[in-house]
Amino acid sequence: MAPSPPLLVTPGPVATSKAVRAAMALDRSAAEPGMIEALRQMQAQVGALVRMDAAYAVIPVPGSATQANEMVLRALPPPGAAVLIVTNGAYGDWLAHLCATMGRPHHVLRTPPLEPIRPERIARALEDDPAISHVAVVHVETSSGRLNPLPEIASLCRRLGRGLIVDAVASAAIVPLDVAHDRPEALVLSSNKGLQGPPGLAWVVAERAALERGRGFAASASLDLFDQHQHVERTGTFRFTPPTHVLCGVHAALEELAAEGFAARTARYGENWGAAAAILSGAGFPPLLRLPDAAPIVVTVALPEDGLAPAAVTEAMANRGYVLVPGRLAVPRTVRLGCIGALTPADTARAAAALAEVLRSGPIIA
Ligand SMILES: *Cc1c(COP(=O)(O)O)cnc(C)c1O
Repeated sequence: MAPSPPLLVTPGPVATSKAVRAAMALDRSAAEPGMIEALRQMQAQVGALVRMDAAYAVIPVPGSATQANEMVLRALPPPGAAVLIVTNGAYGDWLAHLCATMGRPHHVLRTPPLEPIRPERIARALEDDPAISHVAVVHVETSSGRLNPLPEIASLCRRLGRGLIVDAVASAAIVPLDVAHDRPEALVLSSNKGLQGPPGLAWVVAERAALERGRGFAASASLDLFDQHQHVERTGTFRFTPPTHVLCGVHAALEELAAEGFAARTARYGENWGAAAAILSGAGFPPLLRLPDAAPIVVTVALPEDGLAPAAVTEAMANRGYVLVPGRLAVPRTVRLGCIGALTPADTARAAAALAEVLRSGPIIA
C-alpha cells in the first residue's frame, strides 16, 4: 500500500517525527526566557555532536544551509585572498558558484565524482599558490553519497597553515565529526538532514579567533556571520525575527537525537541504507558507491540506458507514495533514494522495492 501522506525518501528535506511536527504548532516569542534557554541548549547539543572545545562557538543562522555557507565564505577569508574549492560533486560546485557570485577570488580543484578527494592533490595546489588562505570542501557529497577524507584534508591544512571551511550539512549525526581534533575554522550544519529537524535554520560552528580576525569582512548586513555571532552571545537571540516555529521543531529534534544517541542514529541510517541497497542490487540495480566509501545518506543507482527519464522516475515514485528529489546529481542519469530522516529499514526497503519496479518498467510508449 502506498504511504499516505507520501513519505520523503530524499536527502533533504527529510521525514520528521510527529513530535517534531507537533512542537511547531505553538506561537512563541523569540525573547521568552524559555526560547532563550532552548537556544542555549541547542547550541550546547550541536557543539557536543561535533565534539568542539571552548575555542569554538555555535552560531544559529536563519535560512538554508547554502546561506550559511555563503555567510562563512564572506566572513573568514581576508578580502583579496583566494579560496581553494575542492569538489567532487554538485554541492562542492555550488561553493564555487557562491564565491563567483560574491566576487571572492577562488580556484576550483575538481576531481572525479565517485572517487575520494586525494589530499596530496590539495597539498600540491596549496604549495603552488601562497595567495590561497582557505580551503573549502564538502565532507559528504550528497549528490553521490561520497564520503570525503576530512581528517586527512584537515591535517594537511594545519600543516600548510591554511584555514579550512567544511560543508558538513550531510555529515552531522550521520558520520562522526571531531572539531577539537580536526580544527577547521568553520563547519556548516543544517537543522534538517541528519538532525531530523525542519528546514529553515543552519548552524555554523566557527573558531572564535577566526571570527574575530574576520570582523568587518562580510560586506553585507544580513549575511554578516560575525554580527550574528556577537548578537546571539550578547542577547541569547537573533538579530532579526528568528524562525520561531522552526526553532521549536529543531529543539524537539535535538531532544530526540539525544534520546536515540549518535551511535544508534548512525547505525539506523546504515540499516536503512543496507535494506534499500540489498533490494536494488537484487533487482539488478547495484549502488554506484557502497558503504563506507559512501555515507548512509542516499543509495545512488544508474538509470537503465533505455529506461525512463529521470523526471518520469520521480513522477512514478510519487504515484506510489514516495517523494524523491530529482537533480543535484554528481553523475548524470542516476537516481538517489534517501535513507536519512525519521525512517526505518522497513520504510527504505519498501521504497526501494517501488523504485526497482519503476526502473524495470521502462519507458511508456504512447
Ligand atoms: C542539502 C545540502 C546543502 C544545502 O542545504 P540547503 O539547506 O538546501 O541550502 C549543502 N551541502 C550539502 C552537502 C547538502 O547535503
